[in-house]
Amino acid sequence: MRDRSIFSFSSKLVLFFILQLSISSLIIGMSGYFVAKKELNKKGEQILKNAVIQAIDLLYSEYEKVESGIMTKQGSQEIIKETLLGIKDPDTNLRDLHGKIDLGKHGYFIIYDPHGNEIMHPSLEGENILETIFVDQKNRDLLQDQITVGLNGGGYTYYSWWLPYSTKVSKKISYSDYFSPWKWIVVATTYEVDLNRAANIILFVIFLTMASLISIVSVIILKYVKFMTTPIVAIVDGMGKIASKEYIKIKKDKHKDEIGRLVDGYNNMVESLQNTKEHLAEREKYISYLAFHDDLTGLPNRHAIEHHVSDSINQGCTSAYMLQTDILGLKIINSTLGFKQGDRLLQFIGSYFLELNDERLFLSRTSSNEFTIWIESVEHDEMVELVYDLRKSVKEHISKNGFGRIVDMHLAVSEYPKNGISFGELYEKTSIAMKIAKDTNNLRLNEYDKKFKEAMENELSMRRYLRKAIEENEIHPHYQAQVDYRSGRIVGVEALARWNSNALGAVSPSIFIPAIESQNLVTEFSHYMMDKILSDYPRLKEKYNDEITVSINISPVFFMDKGFQEVLNIKLQKHSIPPNKLTIEITEDVFISDFEEVTKTINHLHNIGVRVSIDDFGTGYSSLNYLTMIDFDEMKIDKSFINKIIEEPRSLELFKIFCQIAEIYNYDVVAEGVETEMQLEMIKTTLPIVIQGHLYAKPEPL
Ligand code: C2E
Ligand code: MG
Ligand code: MG
Repeated sequence: MRDRSIFSFSSKLVLFFILQLSISSLIIGMSGYFVAKKELNKKGEQILKNAVIQAIDLLYSEYEKVESGIMTKQGSQEIIKETLLGIKDPDTNLRDLHGKIDLGKHGYFIIYDPHGNEIMHPSLEGENILETIFVDQKNRDLLQDQITVGLNGGGYTYYSWWLPYSTKVSKKISYSDYFSPWKWIVVATTYEVDLNRAANIILFVIFLTMASLISIVSVIILKYVKFMTTPIVAIVDGMGKIASKEYIKIKKDKHKDEIGRLVDGYNNMVESLQNTKEHLAEREKYISYLAFHDDLTGLPNRHAIEHHVSDSINQGCTSAYMLQTDILGLKIINSTLGFKQGDRLLQFIGSYFLELNDERLFLSRTSSNEFTIWIESVEHDEMVELVYDLRKSVKEHISKNGFGRIVDMHLAVSEYPKNGISFGELYEKTSIAMKIAKDTNNLRLNEYDKKFKEAMENELSMRRYLRKAIEENEIHPHYQAQVDYRSGRIVGVEALARWNSNALGAVSPSIFIPAIESQNLVTEFSHYMMDKILSDYPRLKEKYNDEITVSINISPVFFMDKGFQEVLNIKLQKHSIPPNKLTIEITEDVFISDFEEVTKTINHLHNIGVRVSIDDFGTGYSSLNYLTMIDFDEMKIDKSFINKIIEEPRSLELFKIFCQIAEIYNYDVVAEGVETEMQLEMIKTTLPIVIQGHLYAKPEPL
């Protein structure tokens, strides 16, 4: 609350002016009154003196009448008394007070003899004034003065006395003079109340005039002050509003002085504040845009989807899916064509997503090659269809823009509320599903499963135990038979690593092999496995037959290692195994790296007589061009084709095409993952092929 004085600035100003006016009016009025009073007193004194002179003139003319015998002394003296003080009431013995000479309302004449005897008095005639009982010593002195002044040639005396026939006391002036023939002291006396009556009237008139003047001037002042203070009050109010970011300009009216300049200054300030506010609002908008958008694609970012998902959950969303797509091929584009092209690819995907007008989807880019999509209001099957359609159309869009077929997506999804009830939980679960999709190179939609999390947790602890596992011989090869189905003869075995961890139990190679690669343990592990497998060979011959071949999986990293060829030579000699009984399995991934080096290594293997097999054929992304340039000995058609061979006619077709390619290039064919007689029947119709699958044998220890 603002601390406000009860009086506003303008009322204080008005009050100040009125006070000023009143004080000056009072001073003028009072001085006028006092001046007038003084003058009137002076005038009154003069009148008194004249009255006494006039009375003494009368006394002389009467005295002359008495002297000339026209009048008796008593008669003349009575005429004088009646002229000066009026007729005496015979009943009361009191005189009328007012004679023929005017001494004002209360003024009257007195005549004493030099001893203080009242020769003429309105009420005390015949008494001695100096001895009258109610006259005290102080008054007696005053009256004595009056007589003395009169005897000494005339003069004034000033004192306070009762008004005639009244108990009220007033200031009084007397003039006394001496009429020697009769030894009379003639005194004219009057009261200030009479003398000042005019001054009082003047005072009253002055105050009346001043009061009306003050009223009129107050109205003018009020209007003027209002005129002067209105802009100031408006500025004060405006200032108050600035605090709440309200910028209001005020009217200048007719002010051309400092107030006008103040208003101009204030308005300029408000305008610049307004501009600053708009500018800040734009910046704020931009900053919040940046905070919630991905710079490269213009799509909402992780922050934005987090908000959206939380809002949607808070608003009572009952079921939804969180989809993650991981762009495959971006790495290759970045490393072969440069980052600019990689960025272009992401922008194409972004622009495609931005133009999608599907209310069910909230699309965002959450990391460099990861897009996260919140899908609402769909049933499970509809979601699956939607996701595959989305991938198909994105791929078409990208390929139209010149990126060929190299780009694809891993897809992972988690479900709200089944897998998590917050953005964080769902994001974590989707990421786990995505990791599994990537590790297992699975291009189908990976739906989060509780087991994934366990596997992930296992993987984390597995990473800690992995080095120890190699050192402490916890990893062993198992062997899976490869069978010529026509003869039923086992022609070879594939060595597959098995880790039975003391701490973790059995860990799948699809989990620990990628971990070995990412932890730079490949060389160590490869040496270890090759030694184990090659040293097993004599026993494998014993178990199966003398002609048996053994296949070893070699990681692309080790295959490309400069020391690989030498290591292989040494190990073949060390374990004295015929090179043509050894098959090296490599995957198509190896062609992503240096093609020439790969060719050289393969040529070397052929030169020393080792067989080379291309594993998981059909799942890589490189062009099949390499087949025209490199000789292989064997093609292992990936189990994903056999898997679907019954339900999907295209899988069988592809399988047949692969077999034709193998025929053209004279490769042996191994079909991986044959589990059922039915699958076998389907593929039997084509070439003579070797079968590796649970139908005949599972990987087993030697
Ligand atoms: P791969 O080389 O393609 O091995 C074949 C995989 O198919 C093996 O999985 C095998 O158990 C599985 N398999 C064979 N027949 C069937 C079947 O009828 N049904 C099903 N469902 N699966 C079948 P495994 O042992 O889990 O190995 C997975 C992958 O791990 C291997 O795929 C290989 O790429 C890698 N790997 C295994 N051991 C080694 C190794 O010592 N070194 C390297 N670098 N990689 C290895
Ligand atoms: Mg293999
Ligand atoms: Mg395979």
